[in-house]
Amino acid sequence: MTSRLATAKRVVVKIGSSTLVSPEGEPQRVWLNRLSADIATLKAAGKEVIVVSSGAIALGRRRLKLPKGALKLEEAQAAASVGQIALAQSWTEALAANGMTAAQILLTLDDTEERRRYLNARATLGALLSLGAVPVINENDTVATAEIRFGDNDRLAARVAVMVGADCLVLLSDIDGLYTDNPVRNPEAVFIPEIPEITPEIEAMAGRPGSDMGSGGMVTKLLAAKIATAGGCDMAIALGQIDHPLRRLAEGGRGTWLLARSNPAAARKQWILGALKPAGTLTVDAGAARALQGGKSLLPAGITAVDGAFERGDAVIVRDGEGTEIARGLAAYGSDDATRLIGRRSADIETVLGYPGRAAMIHRDDLVVL
Ligand code: GLU
Repeated sequence: MTSRLATAKRVVVKIGSSTLVSPEGEPQRVWLNRLSADIATLKAAGKEVIVVSSGAIALGRRRLKLPKGALKLEEAQAAASVGQIALAQSWTEALAANGMTAAQILLTLDDTEERRRYLNARATLGALLSLGAVPVINENDTVATAEIRFGDNDRLAARVAVMVGADCLVLLSDIDGLYTDNPVRNPEAVFIPEIPEITPEIEAMAGRPGSDMGSGGMVTKLLAAKIATAGGCDMAIALGQIDHPLRRLAEGGRGTWLLARSNPAAARKQWILGALKPAGTLTVDAGAARALQGGKSLLPAGITAVDGAFERGDAVIVRDGEGTEIARGLAAYGSDDATRLIGRRSADIETVLGYPGRAAMIHRDDLVVL
């Protein structure tokens, strides 16, 4: 039996602190090596893999000899800044031992919300994946301004999955999936293998499995599932603390699957069309209009006019010479730079603007042709 993980193309895997870090505060090296072997197998099967890894605070608190129990925000941030180095080193070694290159990315939740930073983070992740590297992401805890809560990385992983158009998100955790009740307290609790829709009944079932290090509980996992499934991404909750957890899940092993409500491309188009208010208009010539219909990006050369005041990352309307709306998309340049680029070749962008920008005014991944 195979699972949705076996058929996915772009996969985000989130690993919780209690899975990656021993109770003594050391990385679980043997386990991590085997997990990395699973990642290598997924990549060899043609999939792209992104890791979201917790564990910085758990690794750092021991090195700083901080006491057990709750930490003050500045202590947690200090622990994260020490532990993140150890975390990155563990990933670098484990991935290298399996022939892969690790790339560290520290994000805040704002980076996945604010569209200009979002576009950059997405482009960087895309570049890393096409270069064959394995991005390893954590929250940038040392500069976070809000309280650091365990479980934030579940949400961050879901946001990353939607941001990169992943079709599968796996949360490796200290519990093997969702039950009708908390299985630790209630022996009658029944395991749920598949959830086609997150209903209020499902939400009511989310208990709080006990663990002193990781797991924000099922509540944060369901929150992550809502973000992922609405963004067209299937999500699995599976047990991390076993050997080769990804291989087992791919082969149909135990886990709860929460199913996507559409596919990533459709969800993204819906977002660009529905959720974003256009801030300006680009008028294009007939050649560019044809290129857009053919699935190409919109290049500055095909633009004849720029209207409205917008910033990089804002949604804009694309009109043809007759004024008919033919597309919508996210502008790679603000309206000032866009105006300066009207009719210019992409090769001239650096000369015109004084910096090397993106070749397209709207990249085809950020474009919905009507
Ligand atoms: N970013 C935190 C860490 O690396 C973990 C947050 C979480 O587990 O959700 O220690």
